[in-house]
Amino acid sequence: MEKLTEMLIARLSVNNPEERTAFLINKINDSIKPPQPVTAENVHIRAMYIVNDLVNSHGGQFRREDLYKLCDLLVDTPVLVGHNRSNPPLARTFHAEPVEDGSILWIKSYFYWPRSADGVNDELAMKIDSGVLKECSISFIYTMPECTVCGQDMRSCPHDPTTGEGDSPHFIYNNITQVLETSLVYKGSVKGTYITDKLASEKSKGIIISHNGRTVEIPVPDGEHNPLGGAAVIQFDNESAVIPEIEFCPDRLAAAAAVRKGRVYLLAKSS
Ligand SMILES: [Zn+2]
Repeated sequence: MEKLTEMLIARLSVNNPEERTAFLINKINDSIKPPQPVTAENVHIRAMYIVNDLVNSHGGQFRREDLYKLCDLLVDTPVLVGHNRSNPPLARTFHAEPVEDGSILWIKSYFYWPRSADGVNDELAMKIDSGVLKECSISFIYTMPECTVCGQDMRSCPHDPTTGEGDSPHFIYNNITQVLETSLVYKGSVKGTYITDKLASEKSKGIIISHNGRTVEIPVPDGEHNPLGGAAVIQFDNESAVIPEIEFCPDRLAAAAAVRKGRVYLLAKSS
């Protein structure tokens, strides 16, 4: 049977998964079985939102049950930078799990790599945490793009794939057999960034700030659900009383940060 290779782009998680460190370290040792068991002190862990169950800009879609299968196929695959298979992988995927975000089901994929000897100047960690590497992509093999209208191979049936939801013709990635790799990619460097923008805007509902050396996403409710009529004031726990940097603000919002009487506030309103 002919095998088709697909590559899709999505985005990295902005939150460091530190709160689940013990669980994730156990996962590495159980799933990858490294010759020397890893500890929280000698590896970095990050995550990527790699695919979801929406129709993507190729006109393709995963069945929900296939996303669970994809979680299994992701484990123990290499993580590259920019799909460069001539260099050894920089990291390895060790765990993937479905994550509900409203009505969308995402696959969140976790990967790890060894900490550098000094534990400080780790180039990959710095590039991810600074947002230089901010997207990711997946390469996988499947056997047939199944038309959602007639059930035939979409390359030969009379229907053309569209990116519309609902009854618009699109195709299902049928019989996914293998994940080749996931890659960390520089924004805009890979053909198909359009997908990334689409997925990112659907996924990012909040304001992303950097504060006390960490980057976090602050969820902000939609205007119609907001008791303040489209405006919100969010207070932070903090000791330094340093004004956070606003790294990203969705188009629908305007945001500002302020310090008042030693407390840090994020002010957000509908734009
Ligand atoms: Zn068809």
